[in-house]
Amino acid sequence: MNKDQFLLAVEGLTVSFDGFKAVDDLSFYLDPKEIRVIIGPNGAGKTTVLDLICGKTRATSGSIRFRGKELTKMKEHQIVHAGVGRKFQNPSVFEDLTVFENLEVSYPQGHTVMGSLAFKRDAAVMAAVEEVAATIFLQDLLDQPAGLLSHGQKQWLEIGMLLIQKPALLMLDEPVAGMSVAERQKTAELLRVITRDHTVLVIEHDMQFVGDIADRVTVMHQGKVLSEGSIEHVKNDPKVIEVYLGH
Ligand code: ADP
Repeated sequence: MNKDQFLLAVEGLTVSFDGFKAVDDLSFYLDPKEIRVIIGPNGAGKTTVLDLICGKTRATSGSIRFRGKELTKMKEHQIVHAGVGRKFQNPSVFEDLTVFENLEVSYPQGHTVMGSLAFKRDAAVMAAVEEVAATIFLQDLLDQPAGLLSHGQKQWLEIGMLLIQKPALLMLDEPVAGMSVAERQKTAELLRVITRDHTVLVIEHDMQFVGDIADRVTVMHQGKVLSEGSIEHVKNDPKVIEVYLGH
């Protein structure tokens, strides 16, 4: 098997904190343009996996191959540059800047300097901002300060701030936490649009939402993969039922 056919190949990944293996010999593979959801009880190691992929945490052993490159030896900014975008659970947008400006400062070429009055608005940046704003349902709110957006809209804006950097892999930690039902539905729609061009790796607890978005689900337990496959497959897996009923 040619491992480089996968967008991401995680193999034998292990990290120990003071002898405790938070991630323990973990392997999984992402196809280009799939939505993979990682589920599992609290403490299963889900967040640590995303921390390892984006370089926030260093692996004790194992490998993370992304588009043919080994990420475990790279620094965080190099991993971003290689095409990995990570969104944390709480929205972190620049509240005093408008929606437009938040997207503009996230544009990868460094066209703007924070604090500068002279935002350089060339045609390519304008077009990219407008395209992303439409994707994240904020095209009519470009001049709105981000601080006035709803919680859900801030989450979308932060996804947009990643999208404008065109990552091949987008990692999202509980993207619908705190959202209304309508916002959850729109987020599912948004993720479907995003996977026309990007692969998405999501940590999620809301099983309804997982069912709506996941191409495949990876269930983690005690740092390992407990089960993997379609939502129906993992829901009916006796090992998964046992772990969830035990909590
Ligand atoms: P999940 O996201 O599935 O809830 P985490 O990845 O946050 O799980 O954590 C897995 C385990 O690793 C937990 O027991 C947690 O306490 C531990 N852990 C995570 N990060 C660290 C760290 N930096 N130092 C020590 N222990 C950690």
